[in-house]
Amino acid sequence: MSQSSKTLIVGCGFSGAVIARTLAEHGRVVHIIDQRNHIGGNAHDFVNEHGIRVHQYGPHLFHTSNDKVVQWLSAFTDWLPYQHRVKALLSDGRYVTLPVNKETAEIVGCDRIIDVFFRPYTRKMWGVELEQLDPAILQRVPVRDDLNEFYFPNDTFQAMPKDGYTAMFQRMLDHPNIQLQLNKAFDKAVEGQYSHVFNSMPIDQYFDYCLGELPYRSVKFHHHTLPMPSILPAATVNFTHDQPYTRVTEWKKLPGHGEHPSHTTLTFEEPCDYKDNHMERYYPVKDLQGINLQRYQQYRDMVPAHMTFIGRCGLYAYLDMHQAISSALAAADNHLKGFAKAMPFGCCN
Ligand SMILES: Cc1cc2nc3c(=O)[nH]c(=O)nc-3n(C[C@H](O)[C@H](O)[C@H](O)COP(=O)(O)OP(=O)(O)OC[C@H]3O[C@@H](n4cnc5c(N)ncnc54)[C@H](O)[C@@H]3O)c2cc1C
Repeated sequence: MSQSSKTLIVGCGFSGAVIARTLAEHGRVVHIIDQRNHIGGNAHDFVNEHGIRVHQYGPHLFHTSNDKVVQWLSAFTDWLPYQHRVKALLSDGRYVTLPVNKETAEIVGCDRIIDVFFRPYTRKMWGVELEQLDPAILQRVPVRDDLNEFYFPNDTFQAMPKDGYTAMFQRMLDHPNIQLQLNKAFDKAVEGQYSHVFNSMPIDQYFDYCLGELPYRSVKFHHHTLPMPSILPAATVNFTHDQPYTRVTEWKKLPGHGEHPSHTTLTFEEPCDYKDNHMERYYPVKDLQGINLQRYQQYRDMVPAHMTFIGRCGLYAYLDMHQAISSALAAADNHLKGFAKAMPFGCCN
């Protein structure tokens, strides 16, 4: 087998791992690398010294109405049903349901909803005043006129992987055609050794920022274990104050995340610019003028034929997990169709 028949996949998050598995099952030999020391991308989780499962990059709640995605993923995990609830802590110490429902609106007052929930959150999360924000972001935050307490009221499938995300990724990548290498950053010098590259690195970085940078917001995660059996009224509590943290998650409140009798682990989230967090890119910044998206499109126009950009940073889009999976399945499918066309007499590795 020649080296050039191999496919390189940069990034071992959902986007890269889903493509790796799909190509491997179709007989392609895949080399997948990640610059981090672990698999799973931002969905990576681990069990700490108290037997509590922690999501290293903040809470990842799997929710979707896409049956194809659920079916595909279910080959690698069993599920624990779970419907997420979020509370907000008011300045007077009371907890109310988020997103704002009828009860929350009555307690806070309809005319104060923007100032209590959206204004401080926007300042912390996006580093701008509410008025400077793309209205599309605000439209995504629902306000309900019923008493529903669930964070994702409409998705038909909501669950956590029974043994965690990392175990699910391990099974996904466990295939003789997949070669995994961690602590390995992409190097342009090796590009020519592969027939195709699926790349989840930031697209502006690949092009050495020649058209300028694509900005992101980031989050610093602060993990703390306290000598208490339990502390929060819900798995996640959002803060309405002006302090730097947006929310805190208590892991034991999620199913299958540990049952330590005397200790509980919390993760606080502190949003910031990605340059203040080791260039960790989480949320693409939507500017009102659409300059960032235009710049992204210009980068897209420069992508060579032997490369497909994938995932959050390759597509410069916020993707939930089910969207990243769906998009990766489509990218792999397109690639395999193109490969089959180029090999009319049957394909080989
Ligand atoms: C705080 C937070 C909370 C979230 N909560 C949810 C949730 O509740 N539900 C939900 O559905 N989604 C959630 N998401 C979204 C979820 O994280 C994404 O859908 C998912 O991570 C997308 O996977 P990806 O493969 O595109 O990107 P990533 O998971 O970021 O994976 C990309 C990988 O590429 C690697 N990489 C980048 N550049 C290079 C390079 N040059 N060389 C080698 N490797 C490289 C990175 O190290 C990374 O591991 C959340 C995201 C964040 C940030």
